[in-house]
Amino acid sequence: MMTLTTRHNVIPEQAKNTDEQPLLLLVEDSPTTTALLSKYFGGNFRLLHASDGVEAWEILAKNPEIALVITDINMPNMTGHQLLVKIRKNDDGHYKNLPVIVMTTFEDNTDRNLAFLNGANDFITKPIDEMELLARVNVHYRLAQTIRELEASKMALAELATTDPLTRIRNRRAFFENGAKALALARRYVSDLSVILIDIDHFKKINDSHGHQAGDEALVMVAHILTELTRGVDTVARIGGEEFAILLPDTNRLGTAVLAERIRASIEREQFIVGDKIVPITVSIGIASFGVDPGDGIDQLLGVADNRLYMAKNNGRNRICVNDEGKSTFA
Ligand code: GH3
Ligand code: MG
Ligand code: MG
Ligand code: MG
Repeated sequence: MMTLTTRHNVIPEQAKNTDEQPLLLLVEDSPTTTALLSKYFGGNFRLLHASDGVEAWEILAKNPEIALVITDINMPNMTGHQLLVKIRKNDDGHYKNLPVIVMTTFEDNTDRNLAFLNGANDFITKPIDEMELLARVNVHYRLAQTIRELEASKMALAELATTDPLTRIRNRRAFFENGAKALALARRYVSDLSVILIDIDHFKKINDSHGHQAGDEALVMVAHILTELTRGVDTVARIGGEEFAILLPDTNRLGTAVLAERIRASIEREQFIVGDKIVPITVSIGIASFGVDPGDGIDQLLGVADNRLYMAKNNGRNRICVNDEGKSTFA
């Protein structure tokens, strides 16, 4: 005879199963039904058991690998309906696609309909037919697996579409997408937003003297420095061949000038080693800030920064330019 009062334990019959088998949670207060169902799952699933909704909720929290829930409706402490609501109302995205199958009695349409309203994926009527139970569990397990795979590839695709393949920082498209969002927020909350535009000086020479591969490595190193010097909320992007842009939410023009100068100095100081040679690299930088500079779109803001970048180039390169007078500081 099996003891089913043990909390959080794998039902003894299932203990022989291996870790690769999907983990199911059976929520059922009747020891007889539990004993019967645990036999049905045989060697294909691992099974955890809870005697009511409260216990089920604790087990779910401790076992994120649970792939499917089969629950009774009428149970002490917390019913199957209450458990369903708790699962579906939870903000944790993990529970969003967790399949839940409810067990109802044949006569009870109300329970079944309520369960669907509360977000059940399927129902099965008692007395439980073994083949039907396994078929429904399999269908919902596979469906949830497919949804998980789709969501993972969707995220991977989104990542790919916004990443520069060489430097692994954001690409031009991501810069403008994030820029539009940041601008909307800056408008709504009347907060600061600035951009920094960076262009490597005489980059053509680096390519010509040391090869395209060395040029690529230099781009990767510059991207790395930019990432190191910025915060998580900033967007660091490669928006052209040897041109980088940084989007800085909540940053005014003074803060932006300080960061721009820090970037310029860090790149100048960095020892870029190509082969066995140290290759000096410098950058020219232009900045612009929403609200103080003209323009109400990211492209216009970038245009202002680009004009200033051009001035920095004309004034001798390896410098920043913060305003239309070609100054490198606001002092
Ligand atoms: P300036 O100081 O005026 O900016 O001069 P520059 O040589 O940096 O500017 P220019 O626009 O004349 O040249 C940019 C060079 O960047 C030319 C192009 O071949 C090179 N480039 C663009 N994309 C890549 C890339 O992905 N890898 C490498 N290695 N070079 C690139
Ligand atoms: Mg019951
Ligand atoms: Mg350029
Ligand atoms: Mg250049």
